[in-house]
Amino acid sequence: MGKSSKDKRDIYYRLAKEQGWRARSAFKLLQIDEEFNIFEGVQRAVDLCAAPGSWSQVFSKKLNEIRPEDAPLPKIVAVDLQAMAPLEGVIQIQGDITKVSTAEQIVSHFEGELADLVVCDGAPDVTGLHDMDEYIQAQLLLSALNITTNILKPGGTFVAKIFRGKDVTLLYAQLKIFFPTVTCSKPRSSRNSSIEAFVVCQNYTPPKDYKPTMIDPLLDLSYGNELLGPNRVIVPFIACGDLSGFDSDMTYPLEKESLDPLQPPISAPYRTAINLKQNNFFNKIS
Ligand code: SAM
Repeated sequence: MGKSSKDKRDIYYRLAKEQGWRARSAFKLLQIDEEFNIFEGVQRAVDLCAAPGSWSQVFSKKLNEIRPEDAPLPKIVAVDLQAMAPLEGVIQIQGDITKVSTAEQIVSHFEGELADLVVCDGAPDVTGLHDMDEYIQAQLLLSALNITTNILKPGGTFVAKIFRGKDVTLLYAQLKIFFPTVTCSKPRSSRNSSIEAFVVCQNYTPPKDYKPTMIDPLLDLSYGNELLGPNRVIVPFIACGDLSGFDSDMTYPLEKESLDPLQPPISAPYRTAINLKQNNFFNKIS
């Protein structure tokens, strides 16, 4: 898709470029914060699945805004499978959130302390097969929850992308094991046509005797099954962001010249496909 057709289709894509965010997703986190005040008192924050980095940009802006003059600089750690262009004040780890080495690297940056806030906007490459996409997204969310139990301090907050598919109540039940307050939230900038939403999980309170581990994660939660059926958990749903503001499903006229993306991907996965195509790889196998 050409740059200008995406510009015409998506107001938040345009606003992100105008306001200096690396991706339109920045607005989702900003709108979640408007409702839940997630940055209050936060000094150490982790952005899981962070590339290209717009949520880390929001962290940097918000944590520096709320920092008292004499307080140390906030610690922000961003993790992604993909390489990410540098961002001032953000420590970057290129790694997989399902790996123990990644959890160890994150914690090593906090000098013995744990994080106050962990977020995860992780998304697998969608296949278009809805059941499969929902399943993989749920597994990624559980991986994010698992690594979070290794790096979040009691009382801390966890925010993560969730697909509201047919088995979502099981995920809510699994999150409720660790957080007494779980809310499903849909920012205005997340398209209504998308099953994406965000869980805002507050006041991290792991079960008594729970020992976080990355090696044999308990999050293959067999005890989650008893939370199905009449015992299933229902969590509040909150739409956030200015509801009379821009609608992410609408097409707005393009009034200004389209801008270049702020930070093009530095090693985009589609490069491999382009190289294969240029070398006639697909002709050879057909
Ligand atoms: N929040 C980001 C921002 O605002 O710029 C956008 C995140 S993007 C929607 C999803 C990211 O999840 C991709 O960059 C992808 O590489 C990452 N991801 C998917 N699986 C991952 C994994 N197992 N470990 C680390 N990152 C992962």
